[in-house]
Amino acid sequence: MESYDIELQEAIKNGNNICIAGHINPDGDAVSSALGLALCLKMIGKDVTVLLEDYSHKFYYIKGREMIYKGDYDKLEPDLFIAVDCGSKDRLGDAQSVFDRTENTINIDHHISNTEYAKYNVVYPNASSTSEVVFEIIRNFSVITDEIASALYTGIVSDTGGFKHNCTSPRTHEIASVLIGFEVPYSEIQNKILYSKSREELNIFIKALNKLKIENGISRVILTKKEILESGATYKDLDGIVSFILNIDDVDAAVFVYEKENGKTKVSMRSISTDVSGIAIKFGGGGHKLAAGADFDCTVEEAEKIIVKELEDVVSEGA
Ligand code: AMP
Ligand code: MN
Ligand code: MN
Repeated sequence: MESYDIELQEAIKNGNNICIAGHINPDGDAVSSALGLALCLKMIGKDVTVLLEDYSHKFYYIKGREMIYKGDYDKLEPDLFIAVDCGSKDRLGDAQSVFDRTENTINIDHHISNTEYAKYNVVYPNASSTSEVVFEIIRNFSVITDEIASALYTGIVSDTGGFKHNCTSPRTHEIASVLIGFEVPYSEIQNKILYSKSREELNIFIKALNKLKIENGISRVILTKKEILESGATYKDLDGIVSFILNIDDVDAAVFVYEKENGKTKVSMRSISTDVSGIAIKFGGGGHKLAAGADFDCTVEEAEKIIVKELEDVVSEGA
């Protein structure tokens, strides 16, 4: 990361009543970067409120949950709003209204599709995770505690798939080496985030694998809302499916299409080499080159057809 931005530093210093929000349906990086930054700002005397939707119990060990606001968003009047891991303003969900009425806004992110929607935009597409960007920012003005280190380490492990994805850089490892110098239970964190599965996750995994199809280097799974709910799973149990079906011989791209709770369709894509972010952006979504997603208004079957056609075109171009 380049030299630390003075304007950003000033904006954070001048904020007293600060709201920090992550993207809707928060993943490990959104939770970790939001709580890691919140713990840090609280420690330097700021009044901090965290706006995060419910997230997987896997991440409950990350400290600072008491800062998560459960009240009426209309009552919030922060003097600084910081969005983390959120590529576009609409991905803030209900917190968008708070963002819109706050004068000073900061957008800290690493999505290549980021729309630079804030007053100060700190977007590093080469960073492995927003947690990595948060580390670069806070090391300039804060002491890092064991709790902050554990949070940021979780975000990095989560978005790099355990230092495996191509977003992992020498700098990612340098930062991780600083973080594990603190009391960070790194084995437990890796196990919890990457490997352990609840019964519910396992049931939905079995269902997903039963529906797996592989053709032309593309693996895919479709799940309806009925299938998800009848397996006893919740929407927070779906996280590992798309990365798992990428780990199959001769597969270059994986697609997981499922019906959301609101009846809309979600498409998640992962790939080994194909640029899936371009396809996601084309349909109003976003993400990274090898991990991206989009929402569709049509049925799961229709969305699958559209996406597989798009993918077949690019996967065969690259072959
Ligand atoms: P997911 O497949 O939901 O795990 O998301 C993979 C990546 O794509 C993450 O970086 C997400 O933030 C991004 N992403 C997923 N869905 C959307 C969407 N509807 N709009 C913008 N970005 C998305
Ligand atoms: Mn995220
Ligand atoms: Mn991220």
